[in-house]
Amino acid sequence: MRRQPETLADQTFDVLVIGGGIQGISIFHELARSGFNTALIEADDFAAGTSAYSLKVIHGGLRYLQSADLPRMRRSIRARRGFMQLAPDYIKPQGFLIPTSGLGPQHPWAMRIAFWVNDLISADRNSGLPQSSWLPRSKLMTAEALKGVFQGNEAAFATGGAAWYDGFIHDVGRVAIEMVKSGYASGGSPCNYVRADRYLIEDGTITGVVATDTESQSELTIRASLIIEATGTARPNLRASMTADLRAADQGWLKAVNLVLKRELSVDYAIGLKAKQPTEEESRYFFFAPYRGHTLFGTFYFSLPDREAPPAATAEEIRLMLAHAQSLCPDLELSADDVSMVHTGVIPATSSGPNRRLVMKTSPSIRSGAGSVGAENLIEVQSVKYTESLDVASRVAQQAAKYLNREYQSRNPEPLAASELTSALTPEAVAERAVHDEMAVHLTDLILRRTSLGELYVPQEREFRPYLDAMAAAASWDEAQIEWESERLMRHYQAMGWSASATRNR
Ligand SMILES: Cc1cc2nc3c(=O)[nH]c(=O)nc-3n(C[C@H](O)[C@H](O)[C@H](O)COP(=O)(O)OP(=O)(O)OC[C@H]3O[C@@H](n4cnc5c(N)ncnc54)[C@H](O)[C@@H]3O)c2cc1C
Repeated sequence: MRRQPETLADQTFDVLVIGGGIQGISIFHELARSGFNTALIEADDFAAGTSAYSLKVIHGGLRYLQSADLPRMRRSIRARRGFMQLAPDYIKPQGFLIPTSGLGPQHPWAMRIAFWVNDLISADRNSGLPQSSWLPRSKLMTAEALKGVFQGNEAAFATGGAAWYDGFIHDVGRVAIEMVKSGYASGGSPCNYVRADRYLIEDGTITGVVATDTESQSELTIRASLIIEATGTARPNLRASMTADLRAADQGWLKAVNLVLKRELSVDYAIGLKAKQPTEEESRYFFFAPYRGHTLFGTFYFSLPDREAPPAATAEEIRLMLAHAQSLCPDLELSADDVSMVHTGVIPATSSGPNRRLVMKTSPSIRSGAGSVGAENLIEVQSVKYTESLDVASRVAQQAAKYLNREYQSRNPEPLAASELTSALTPEAVAERAVHDEMAVHLTDLILRRTSLGELYVPQEREFRPYLDAMAAAASWDEAQIEWESERLMRHYQAMGWSASATRNR
């Protein structure tokens, strides 16, 4: 899979997907494997934005039981199974555990009934999955059984715990790249570092986009019969370049943030805890999820008044999150030294309640048609969950087929071709594959997404140097480029609010 932006201008595609986050990638993958001549353009690297920083949970929708939203719960269960079928090498079962208590919905009997309904509704959760991906039934555990699982807040687990299983993504970058590669193998035309700047409007109809190849700064005209906008929360930027009657209504955004803690606080379960006397913001469960010897803690939401501003967490926000972790787990004596990285992304929000507080949107939206988005051949998609992106992709593909007057049958995902795991390859082999078969253009692409070396802490030079040298050889970089690429990697961490001085003490 080589990067060839100029070939995008050679033909008229059936469909052009703008935005290569997990949602755009899922739509591209689904359309390409269904025989549509599909292009995908991404302004940065594939899944470099919000999609890189999720808490990695592929939810089965247990939470929707609380609101008795059973149709959404079923959709979520199907979506979870779809992702686990698609990427069994990267998405594995993960236990989740919350304390039971003497009162309310956390009473063991209430949990027992919820789990009984959950297991009933998700009876087909494992069908078609390899045995290694099977999700066990949910269960209640005694306080005694919990000793040894989590020592951070023994008091919280005094009456026992309730445990269930969901999917957990073990390498977000590779899932995205493998999906792009699979769409390419089906005949699709993906390209990173191509930014759509404005719609091409001819005789009053959108016939494509005018885009920039940001590597060469050259302009590209890409034509397609149907355009799908899956640009996440960046959508208003693209719309601002359109004629007034196609401009979308403005909306809000929230910064979603997880802390990465250096210690693995529990081994088998992601632990969910809730403050005893919470503020409105803290009245949810916050999860401590074990991940590659570290712990992901979150998710927090902060308002982001300016979408153009980098979504980095501020020092005050990090302090607040850490204080909350400390109060939830007093026995662990967490300190600022335990934080090795902060993951942030931007999610769509809407205002709610009498004081118009911004809250995250809960449902994905798929809008199309002249009356809604101003053009018959434009579908605008905004997702709110990584988990749902395959399901949303299938619904979008149905609409695309209808518009193009073509056949489309939603099918179960087929497992992505098994690429050799990065951990089994030398830096030279990883770099060779990344540059020549995975469109890695910059060192950041290699360190953050073709490998996960830079995901949990800022890697020290001695750690990334072998990959830098290997990539320099594969991409024929000179000394100046090598230096620039390594500076660019550090600039990435600075933009995320995290600098080399925060490098893990190893
Ligand atoms: C901290 C955090 C934790 C989360 N945890 C979970 C979780 O556990 N489970 C879950 O299911 N979900 C979770 N989510 C939500 C999930 O990550 C998002 O819903 C999902 O990643 C959104 O994907 P997307 O493709 O819509 O958006 P994005 O990832 O933002 O992708 C949009 C892409 O469009 C590109 N783009 C924008 N404008 C243009 C243009 N003009 N031309 C070309 N490309 C363009 C951008 O560069 C970007 O890459 C979490 C989110 C965050 C931030």
